[in-house]
Amino acid sequence: MMKKTVISVVVPVYNEEAVIHESYSRLKGVMEGLDEPYEVIFVNDGSRDATPVIIRDICKSDPTVRLIDFARNFGHQTAITAGMDYASGDAVVVIDADLQDPPEVIPEMIATWREGFDVVYGQRAQRKGETLFKRFTSAAFYRILQKLTDVEIPVDTGDFRLIDRKVCDALKRVKERNRYVRGIISWLGFRQTGVEFVREKRFAGETKYPLKKMLRFAFDAITSFSYKPLKVATYIGSTVSLGGFAYLLVVLYLKLFTTATVTGWASMMAVTLFFNGVVLMMLGIIGEYIGRIYDEAKGRPLYVVREEVNFARAETPAKA
Ligand code: UDP
Ligand code: MG
Repeated sequence: MMKKTVISVVVPVYNEEAVIHESYSRLKGVMEGLDEPYEVIFVNDGSRDATPVIIRDICKSDPTVRLIDFARNFGHQTAITAGMDYASGDAVVVIDADLQDPPEVIPEMIATWREGFDVVYGQRAQRKGETLFKRFTSAAFYRILQKLTDVEIPVDTGDFRLIDRKVCDALKRVKERNRYVRGIISWLGFRQTGVEFVREKRFAGETKYPLKKMLRFAFDAITSFSYKPLKVATYIGSTVSLGGFAYLLVVLYLKLFTTATVTGWASMMAVTLFFNGVVLMMLGIIGEYIGRIYDEAKGRPLYVVREEVNFARAETPAKA
């Protein structure tokens, strides 16, 4: 009889054919050294390259490797969620496939977990091989998010982390769409701590987070954890109407009590254009929230799975 899985490793993959083999062998090396029953769950997020073929091949020779094959690309955060839904370990580790998160940090995470922590997140002490632009926007993003929200989300941490079974089960009850998983985990509470690591450069291939996806990700994070952008309209609105009222008094005074002509086609245009811009932008922000409410209201499943490989239910009798 197989022993109960202790550690589940979840790896989301999207068009990662260039890194899968290396990623698998480095993970394997680390996990074998631990002497604990484990499983590695690859979640194929609708790759268009040979990624699923390679993983299916690995699954044939290695029963500890499993594959969840999505019907299409549902996004990184959803892939992580699916991996956690399927994981059967007492602890679940989420790691990127591109080896930016070094698997060698996992034993340290496990040791910290054994000390009694429920969430052990990897904190990036240094980022290698990423563009200045990415480093800057990323650092700014984490700090803005921290200002906007009351939930304490540690800065400079990605999804590379270990979570306890308790946390994983709690997370399963959070059904929201447009997920920002690391934020939800912070929101859950439990005993959390970080281990520092150096974020390496991508082993091969290109980032699967182009600017558009990054922006969407940032919006998801902010809208899931803060209403403050909505309040901006109130602040700008009240400031502007106060200022406008003061100026009205000035203009009235000039008109009624002096002979000065009030000029100003140019200034009027500038003010009109500027504030129309502000109004439209605020409408856009409200739209972002409404769109997300709409997504929730539809209540569609978070993801659709085309195929599961190596999930022999009999292997995990402890689950029953
Ligand atoms: N990923 C995914 N679905 C996506 C985009 C990315 O599953 O739609 C995976 C990707 O294969 C990788 C991880 O998420 O394992 C992180 O992506 P990436 O390394 O491209 O992001 P970056 O490190 O550049 O922020
Ligand atoms: Mg990466």
